[in-house]
Amino acid sequence: MNNKVDLLGYYGSDEVIACSAWTSTSRDLTNEKRSRIGKLISMLWREGHETPFEKGVVHFLVDCEIASHIHLLKHRISSLNAESARYKELKEDKYYLPEDWTEIRNSNPNLRIDGNGEKHQKWTTILRRYTELGNLLYHQCVEDIEPTLGRKRAKESARFFKTYNSQIQADIMFNMRSFANFIKLRNSEHAQKEIREIAQSMWDLVESIEGEPFKHTLEAIQCRLG
Ligand SMILES: Cc1cc2nc3c(=O)[nH]c(=O)nc-3n(C[C@H](O)[C@H](O)[C@H](O)COP(=O)(O)OP(=O)(O)OC[C@H]3O[C@@H](n4cnc5c(N)ncnc54)[C@H](O)[C@@H]3O)c2cc1C
Repeated sequence: MNNKVDLLGYYGSDEVIACSAWTSTSRDLTNEKRSRIGKLISMLWREGHETPFEKGVVHFLVDCEIASHIHLLKHRISSLNAESARYKELKEDKYYLPEDWTEIRNSNPNLRIDGNGEKHQKWTTILRRYTELGNLLYHQCVEDIEPTLGRKRAKESARFFKTYNSQIQADIMFNMRSFANFIKLRNSEHAQKEIREIAQSMWDLVESIEGEPFKHTLEAIQCRLG
């Protein structure tokens, strides 16, 4: 299945971020001051006064393969919790197949995932079968190891059969400063396709929050990204 991103919630807005900056003078808001929020936010971001942006927070639920999960984990200025194969046997066996492999086939006729299968199989078919075999071995291994080493050790070690394209669920929260950094690094041509798509989905979700609470912040971030 495809990777998936949902927005679980958010805190703050352009106004909350602006008020955080205005704490240095006065947080009292007038209509005239409200009308200057867009300009203020643009100036703060442009000039690197970034701490007020930590007062806005976005929180996502992400179903993704292990490679993207590792990319998410690299971002230390975030808060992440994930489904754990140490604590439960992963029963669902969710996995990801790259869409862009489409018709590409294995060029080695002697290399087949099953003994009597067709020659030159599609790589998507090979990966699917390999993943399914890994999942079969995983569950059987849990069952066979448990009587000797106990359920806990069985789960945490049998997971070595799970493949890199296995999908797990994580919830991850960024403040708007670290979200901007995440977007800059991961919604970039240098980042892997899968994490790029996750970053783009996150951006789209925040952009389409009803009432556009982060309209000026997103514009400022976008402007610096060019
Ligand atoms: C294209 C690409 C290729 C990559 N390749 C690899 C790779 O081959 N191997 C690998 O291990 N990683 C790799 N990474 C991950 C990368 O090294 C970072 O770990 C990851 O992008 C998180 O970036 P970050 O530190 O800016 O984010 P965060 O950890 O969220 O930090 C956000 C910001 O906080 C500040 N900050 C955080 N911690 C500190 C600190 N200790 N000291 C000072 N300032 C801090 C920095 O300004 C930082 O930019 C790659 C990333 C990208 C985008």
